[in-house]
Amino acid sequence: MQTVLVTGGAGYIGAHACKVLKAAGFTPVTFDNLNTGWEEAVKFGPFFRGDLMNRADVDAAFVQYRPVAVLHFAALSLVGESMKDPGKYWRVNVMGALNLIEGALAAGCRNFVFSSTCATYGDQDGVLLDENSVQKPINSYGASKRAIEDMLVNFGESHGLNHVIFRYFNVAGCDPEGEIGEQHVPETHLIPLMLDAVAGKRPALTVFGSDYPTRDGTCVRDYVHVMDLVQAHVLGLQWLLEGKGNRVFNLGTGTGFTVREVIEASRAVTNREVPIIEGARRAGDAVALVSGSARAIEELGWEPVHSTLRQMIGDAWGWAQGPGYTK
Ligand code: UDP
Repeated sequence: MQTVLVTGGAGYIGAHACKVLKAAGFTPVTFDNLNTGWEEAVKFGPFFRGDLMNRADVDAAFVQYRPVAVLHFAALSLVGESMKDPGKYWRVNVMGALNLIEGALAAGCRNFVFSSTCATYGDQDGVLLDENSVQKPINSYGASKRAIEDMLVNFGESHGLNHVIFRYFNVAGCDPEGEIGEQHVPETHLIPLMLDAVAGKRPALTVFGSDYPTRDGTCVRDYVHVMDLVQAHVLGLQWLLEGKGNRVFNLGTGTGFTVREVIEASRAVTNREVPIIEGARRAGDAVALVSGSARAIEELGWEPVHSTLRQMIGDAWGWAQGPGYTK
């Protein structure tokens, strides 16, 4: 079986990736420092506890496992935090990626799948964002991810590092079988916070801004089910292993929903009201982020079959009602 190194494999998206990688016949090796990940989520392959900021850890993982490719999920990913502490984002995300790229090349591993973000596009007045849209990030998180994209292009040219870059829109939902789920400390994402409020684990959901120039005043996002998103990574990995070359793909559905529409969908799934508080805008939020998603569908053969609000909220609701991770 071919081994792949999955940084952030103990985190939300990385753990889901490990599940589908295993199902596709790969051995996913999780590389994670457990700062935000969960050891319990590492269920589908070996675990290497290490820190990307420590090059010796990176080298040791490559020596031990000899992966054919790297899937790089590990990163700081909170827009709000990145606005308050940009240095942390530039240091951890950019330095971590640099150590990983140089470690991979030193070990002769030349296939790299990178988790980027629609936050690299910035705020573009509600136009559909495709892979050729200009990248003008409006927060430090997006800026750090764009810098890593540039890094991959440079190392592609200088060292033949083959790379697929995925620009994620809003990832939601979880494993329908409930083996793994979405759990962040602190939680900042809309759907888990909303469901916690429904379940009575939090008093209410605060809606961040009701005066945006959108159909109901709240921000528009393109939500994609995590199982669809990670399936695209298997296709991206196969693309690289088949020698098809460097490519950027958006991962979204092409349909945007407002915060209020997500709340409305939750009522239909849970049969309960969402207690809400109308709050102020959150710094760094774009008005609307919706993906032009044709390229992944046409070129990778990607089929986002789970990405309805009903399934994303339904699967997340199943997880929210369970015990979650404890360590
Ligand atoms: N949001 C909100 N209340 C919350 C969390 C999020 O109104 O407690 C809004 C947020 O302003 C954005 C959308 O929900 O418009 C999705 O936010 P999330 O943090 O889930 O993802 P992001 O778009 O920042 O990646």
